[in-house]
Amino acid sequence: MQNAALRAVGLDDWRYQLLPLPPALFAETVRALAPAGFRGINVTIPHKQAALGLATAASDRARAIGAANTLVFDPPAGITADNTDAPALIAALPVPARNRSALVLGAGGSARAAIWALREAGAEPVHVWNRTRERAERLAAELGARPSAGDGVQADLLINCTAVGLGAADDPFAELPLSADALREYECVVDLVYGERETRLVRAARERAVPVVEGRELLVRQGALSFEQFTGRPASVATMRQAVAAPR
Ligand code: NAP
Repeated sequence: MQNAALRAVGLDDWRYQLLPLPPALFAETVRALAPAGFRGINVTIPHKQAALGLATAASDRARAIGAANTLVFDPPAGITADNTDAPALIAALPVPARNRSALVLGAGGSARAAIWALREAGAEPVHVWNRTRERAERLAAELGARPSAGDGVQADLLINCTAVGLGAADDPFAELPLSADALREYECVVDLVYGERETRLVRAARERAVPVVEGRELLVRQGALSFEQFTGRPASVATMRQAVAAPR
């Protein structure tokens, strides 16, 4: 997706590459990347908090969320951190978040970004449910959301920020406080989980004509925002979508 976007703007000698990295080597490796010619990196689980800790400057949203998915290098030693997951979610919603209620499922890293983004965009109230209830309570208290036991919550937007759906055998209607038919109550269902096929949650919402935002769309949008910071060029979101959709 990133390499397709680079080619689309004529940056033919740029490369985006995968760099598997154990946590113990994260800091020293990242600091060595700028002198080696890298312009920046995206980071994912489990490095998002460490990435923020390493930065010499950070956007307000990365600081507020407490995690970064984008580092841009400013040689010799500058590293600026941002979190593009948050604006990607708001940009992908088919309706404005302002004055809409939301139910966020999950209390991990992506839920933190989602809750912060929804609150910042004016969603009210934002409920948060998590399998491990204490985590939802802590996160809700920190970010101004409402912890939820999951049953009986009415909301306009449903955002799945759990890992349920990653495994082929995962059943969102057994593992999450949801029933397929109750999806009709939502104006929009967002599933952060993405894979080769649509998730069961996305399929069930589509079958009931509920507008959905798939995890792949969020992947593209956060990536496009990072691309723009790395290159200073507008990203071709259409090119990136096409690359993600192409069979591998
Ligand atoms: P994380 O920090 O590891 O959090 C995982 C969350 O899932 C926790 O709330 C955990 O609950 C919950 N969970 C895991 N298994 C569960 C189960 N069987 N039943 C109920 N809840 C369960 O992960 P994350 O970074 O937030 O990512 C979550 C998902 O979003 C992943 O699938 C990731 O790939 C996806 N994601 C997508 C994008 C995108 O651009 N589309 C961006 C970021 C993340 P407990 O607290 O009870 O363990």
